[in-house]
Amino acid sequence: MKPVALVYHPIFIEHNLGPGHPETPDRLKAILEAFKDLHNDPRFIWPEPPEAAPEEVALVHDPRYVDWVRKTCETGGAFYPALEGQLAPVSYSAALRAAGAVVAACTKVWDGEWGGAFALVRPPGHHAVRNSAMGFCIFNNIAIGAAWLLQNRGANSILIVDFDVHHGNGTQEAFWANPQVSYFSTHQFPHYPGSGAEFERGQDEGEGATLNAPLEAGSDDAEILSAFNDKLVPWADARKPEILLISAGFDAYEFDPLSGLKVTTEGFRLMARILKGIAEKHCNGRWVIALEGGYHLTSLGENARVFLDEIMNYS
Ligand SMILES: [Zn+2]
Repeated sequence: MKPVALVYHPIFIEHNLGPGHPETPDRLKAILEAFKDLHNDPRFIWPEPPEAAPEEVALVHDPRYVDWVRKTCETGGAFYPALEGQLAPVSYSAALRAAGAVVAACTKVWDGEWGGAFALVRPPGHHAVRNSAMGFCIFNNIAIGAAWLLQNRGANSILIVDFDVHHGNGTQEAFWANPQVSYFSTHQFPHYPGSGAEFERGQDEGEGATLNAPLEAGSDDAEILSAFNDKLVPWADARKPEILLISAGFDAYEFDPLSGLKVTTEGFRLMARILKGIAEKHCNGRWVIALEGGYHLTSLGENARVFLDEIMNYS
């Protein structure tokens, strides 16, 4: 059995935007607590991820933006309204490391060295756009991982599934006109950041390579699972992905303070089962999970754990 990698680095905890900020280090601490016993479980390894090179980040972002983040952090961090949050001095290194963790996960899983990977990263990534941070995200980790596989492994069909309660506008933007990366998202709609309507399907060569399944506030397991079963599964059959990348935001949880959706822990488990089925059917079992949102601190660990357990066990 190939090991499943839990890709983590302490700098993901050091990245701290200050008291009262919902994107708190306590989120990742809660997941680490729920994964504690996996340090002694022979099915898992805990590799230390490298920082992504700025040139790798620039596969998705404007190099001038990447350098602006570096300078801002080097000069002590600064408030910048477009960031909708703060950059702490350590944030540039943390963001490079988060992108590096997802690139490493994508590479090793693609190459068959790892039987799957969960990148336990902060800051999250899916809102970050080419020229700006957004919604607690600095660099778009999963988009950088996908772009890296296109460039360095000759990947031809990548599927990104994003079930964070917020639409992954940055990921959608990165591959809007690219037929090689299929982007599927379930999210509350209307909600932050405003994008993710059903008619958003990509353009030019990428027309049809984006599929949004917006959900009204109050939607629960039945609605999100039906989006997975009735929209995602047949679409994946048509897209025939070589690898499945998952933007795992657990903020669609029924008690999450940033969510109006009502997904339960059991709902996350059943979503993992469907995703595993897609990875088995199309991707030679290759799956990579990147942590996005999730703000209900007492249930976040359990939800992430149940998701991981199910994606490993179902066959
Ligand atoms: Zn979110």
